[in-house]
Amino acid sequence: MQFDNSYARLPERFSAAVLPTPVKAPRLIAFNRALADELGIDLDGVDDERLAAIFSGNAVPQGAEPLAMAYAGHQFGNFVPQLGDGRAVLLGEVLDRKGGRRDIQLKGSGPTRFSRRGDGRAALGPVLREYIVSEAMFALGIPATRALAAVTTGERVQREIGLPGGVFTRVAASHVRVGTFQFFAAREDGEGLKTLADHVIDRHYPEARQAGRPYLAMLQAIAERQCDLVCRWLMVGFIHGVMNTDNMAVSGETIDFGPCAFMDEYHPNKVFSSIDAQGRYAYNNQPGIAQWNIARLAECLLPLLDEDQDKAVDLANSVLADFAKAFPKRWLAGIRAKLGLASEAEGDEQLVQDLLALMQRSEVDYTLTFRSLCSAAQGKAEAFRGMFIDIAAADEWLKRWQARSAQEGRSGDEQAKAMRAVNPAVIPRNHRIEEVIAAAVEDDDFEPFHEMVKAIARPFEERPDYAVYMQAPMNHERVFRTFCGT
Ligand code: AMP
Ligand code: MG
Repeated sequence: MQFDNSYARLPERFSAAVLPTPVKAPRLIAFNRALADELGIDLDGVDDERLAAIFSGNAVPQGAEPLAMAYAGHQFGNFVPQLGDGRAVLLGEVLDRKGGRRDIQLKGSGPTRFSRRGDGRAALGPVLREYIVSEAMFALGIPATRALAAVTTGERVQREIGLPGGVFTRVAASHVRVGTFQFFAAREDGEGLKTLADHVIDRHYPEARQAGRPYLAMLQAIAERQCDLVCRWLMVGFIHGVMNTDNMAVSGETIDFGPCAFMDEYHPNKVFSSIDAQGRYAYNNQPGIAQWNIARLAECLLPLLDEDQDKAVDLANSVLADFAKAFPKRWLAGIRAKLGLASEAEGDEQLVQDLLALMQRSEVDYTLTFRSLCSAAQGKAEAFRGMFIDIAAADEWLKRWQARSAQEGRSGDEQAKAMRAVNPAVIPRNHRIEEVIAAAVEDDDFEPFHEMVKAIARPFEERPDYAVYMQAPMNHERVFRTFCGT
């Protein structure tokens, strides 16, 4: 790996140098060769044993400058002035084939200065979950950190029960979070704040440098990417689960796949996370929470927005107002595409809301409803109709949708094709992930994991070999809770 570590060159208080703690018997589960190639990693003469050594932290590659990043964050609304990488180590940054700067980070690699009472380790289950879900996001075209490698450690970690340990290697545009800005703001470290903002502009928003107010332009750009990201989540039924400010990357990538899940049956207030008792991070709350997180970021940036505090507050508020205005528009554009509508018309919002209401009442599978609607565009509406309890109401809705579609003058085949490009057939369903994890943890069997990685790689295709990954869970298979596993 050709490292060039810009974060390590920032002042000392930004991070803590730390070496990964070696593990007993590292074994490679998965290595993402396509991604490694994109990153320009030279694999000549590198065998699985060597890969396991590197991606468990037992061997530190040349040029790496391992460190744990400092950050703060609001966790479920409560501010914690110091969090930081408690079980992760940033090896360094590489320039990918397109010239993009990418972080390579080990997760579960042992304690750091920020571990507090944690052991710095990760259990195998969450490692496999993050691998699958982050690669599924990528395949769905949603910005997300990527999975480069997963290894087992040959050691046990103690959670509620003893579990096999793992190390996950993730690749990110960067690991700077809203909480990173909060770390410096909480310390009234204006110099640190400015240094961080400049780093973020250089790295993610170079065009902001040309603006009259570069830091305002940066805030605006971060808000826009976040708006777009959360909209994309909603389109595929994704629930992040822990949208704390330390889990929101300023790059606009989805980060930290803990108790996340894709919903099966549709409900706007769906929550999976075992630790989200109040439903703060429920499906439909996500846009509001993203905006709340951006407001926390804006507060940190006030001193950089304008010397006059009132003026700075006005500028920050204008960004938040833009977010609030942009989201519903983006959402409607996204859902129009799901319905196969290429133009905008007056009653579209109502058409969508009526469908969602029907879906909620019949507790239909979110993904299958939209996927079966693709066939309805070609006159094959049976599967779609069959999902609803009130078939008459579904038929009535179908008629309205068909009439609306007809205004566009596209053929049914054309419309269906466009719809199949945005409505996935395969999502990483919870019950399948649970099966994958059970096989690995209980039987040391990684075959289901590898099969699932293949299944989620082409989410918009209906491949007969992967039919089981398209199916909604049977009643006894349904998963109601997901866990961080931290
Ligand atoms: P997360 O819920 O994974 O986003 O983590 C929240 C915070 O807790 C971060 O500062 C993590 O580094 C820290 N943390 C989570 N699990 C552990 C662990 N096993 N050991 C040390 N720190 C941890
Ligand atoms: Mg986190």
